[in-house]
Amino acid sequence: LYITIEGLDGSGKTTQLDALAEWLTDAGHTVVATREPGGTEVGQLVRDIVLHHRGDIAPRAEALLYAADRAHHIATKVRPALERGEVVIQDRYIDSSVAFQGAGRVLGGDEVRRLSEWATGGLYPKLTVLLDLDPTVARARIDAAQKVFDRIEAEAIDFSVRVRAAYLEMAAADPERWLVLDATLPADELAGAIRERVGGLLRT
Ligand code: C5P
Ligand code: MG
Repeated sequence: LYITIEGLDGSGKTTQLDALAEWLTDAGHTVVATREPGGTEVGQLVRDIVLHHRGDIAPRAEALLYAADRAHHIATKVRPALERGEVVIQDRYIDSSVAFQGAGRVLGGDEVRRLSEWATGGLYPKLTVLLDLDPTVARARIDAAQKVFDRIEAEAIDFSVRVRAAYLEMAAADPERWLVLDATLPADELAGAIRERVGGLLRT
């Protein structure tokens, strides 16, 4: 079973990923919790480039670096785990690139998606959880946590407005894959809603 989690920075992806991983592990599943960019050793190098050079990297080069991280991650870590029958829970995937590079950097969602589909051989998760959050609220959360340079506060708010809209559009177009949750709900309520949907998938 392959599950991805998406949302703006500050939407609580990490908290929900950890909670879901713990619940599945307790239920006896072997869980691989991973992320993009940076889910592998090579990917960590790519992560350092894209995050440390945010703003001074050409948008197409940035898109290609995310795709390169993704290609390596899927080939060496995600596909092997899925073939072993394990559950993979992943912080960000193709939809992040469609939202951030496609809509945020205005490279165009379709082209960016095709690039990632080439990079991954078209692997898609069974479920994608979107932790939907107003960009202004997301910004306030990040400021409160005093997170630094690698985060989205380097971008103008309209960047995040485009990212959020792109996420919601993707989710509306494919409700079978997407579960959209209001990220302002309490963390345990969100975790419960995610468990309900995942539980259903495990029974089928
Ligand atoms: O979610 P995480 O904190 O790992 O994301 C790191 C940064 O990379 C975030 O600021 C996120 O907005 C950005 N990012 C991006 N395009 C992607 C994936 C992440 O701009 N495809
Ligand atoms: Mg995070």
